[in-house]
Amino acid sequence: MVLEIVTYGHPALRAKGKPIEAVDEHIRQVAQDMLETMAAAQGVGLAAQQVGLPLQLFVIDIRGVENRPSAMWVNGRRTNPEADMPMVLLNPEIETMGKGEAGPEGCLSFPGVQGDIVRPARVRLRATGLDGEAIAFEAEGLLARAIQHEYDHVQGILFIDRMAPSLRQKLRPEIEAVFEGTRRATQGPLVR
Ligand code: ZN
Repeated sequence: MVLEIVTYGHPALRAKGKPIEAVDEHIRQVAQDMLETMAAAQGVGLAAQQVGLPLQLFVIDIRGVENRPSAMWVNGRRTNPEADMPMVLLNPEIETMGKGEAGPEGCLSFPGVQGDIVRPARVRLRATGLDGEAIAFEAEGLLARAIQHEYDHVQGILFIDRMAPSLRQKLRPEIEAVFEGTRRATQGPLVR
């Protein structure tokens, strides 16, 4: 089932995710729905917070993005990241490496907002898969960027927090337009 993606201003986006203790039927269904939602929105990643759930869970799919290559290593051996897509990652932990690299980013919770964000070029990820299996790999390129973006989401951190102040200032009208759209669509309190 395709879920509604909440937009900037919705309090779920600022909630730190709770660790997932056990994969039950509910978690399986959430993960499946998030994969369908990401695909329908043609997104590269989607965090549980974006469908209103404060959980340590995100999904990633870097396939089909032109001119944005990804690289992946498992136990130090280069592998083909597309073969592992889409990914469901529970209770992720990351370590970043390498110098900062600027690259374009958008976010399904910020329609119409896009800009270059500096992030470390390489990331090491550890997480658990839906079947309880340990997942560990290193990534560069689009996959490294997507993992850092989604990891931030499950901590309640948004890409606007990572923007250079000058860029955030420049995009202020677009960001405020999203916030106002959320206000019109949402009953209850909003959070910046
Ligand atoms: Zn996002």
